[in-house]
Amino acid sequence: MKRALALLLLGLATVVMSQQNGEPEATEVWKPVPQQVESRAGEAPSDAIVLFDGSDLSAWTGTWKVEDGAVTVRGGAGNLVTRQSFGDVQLHLEWRTPSVVDGDGQGRGNSGVFFMERYEVQVLDSFDNETYVNGQAGSIYKQYVPLVNASRPPGEWQSYDIVFMAPRFHDDGELSEPATVTVFHNGVLIQNHVSLEGPTLFIGKPAYEAHADELPLMLQDHGNPVSYRNIWVRELSR
Ligand code: MG
Repeated sequence: MKRALALLLLGLATVVMSQQNGEPEATEVWKPVPQQVESRAGEAPSDAIVLFDGSDLSAWTGTWKVEDGAVTVRGGAGNLVTRQSFGDVQLHLEWRTPSVVDGDGQGRGNSGVFFMERYEVQVLDSFDNETYVNGQAGSIYKQYVPLVNASRPPGEWQSYDIVFMAPRFHDDGELSEPATVTVFHNGVLIQNHVSLEGPTLFIGKPAYEAHADELPLMLQDHGNPVSYRNIWVRELSR
């Protein structure tokens, strides 16, 4: 028995070592060379599409208030929607809930980042604010609870860095691949490549319906004066 085991291990070692035979150049890849991208701290990378730089709201449709380098929800004005449509993206944005706490639960600093006008990463003042956990800041609303609560106190700027991969559909409209989302909240991983169940719903169980490959991004007017700044996207291709 021992001898059989020793022979097996010897065999395995031989297989592993044989993989190290030959020239190292045989496994080197030289082309295509990745595109050079400039990236400076606090700035959008050189290949990003800047959606809001602190003053110019022309990338969006909507009438929110632009002031002091931020754009703020004007309650009742409706959502802010990009003119351009997007599929797979890396999104960066910064957001701030009001420093003066008003309301509680879902009524406190509620807004949201909607990909393709359908799939919401929740924005909420979740600093010492009890609510259903699949509706707190950084949740995929009503679908995925964030791994941790990385919320800063109300009135402080916070960041989301999100990788959103759009769902794929077959020609007959059946789902081929679900949308996936990864979210860093203030640099902390809170959603790790989760597969969405379908569009965000307030009530009921989500189900996919086929839609265009690219659709606008949307920031939610939930009636609370949440502010945004430094918004950019990088379009990704598979
Ligand atoms: Mg919301």
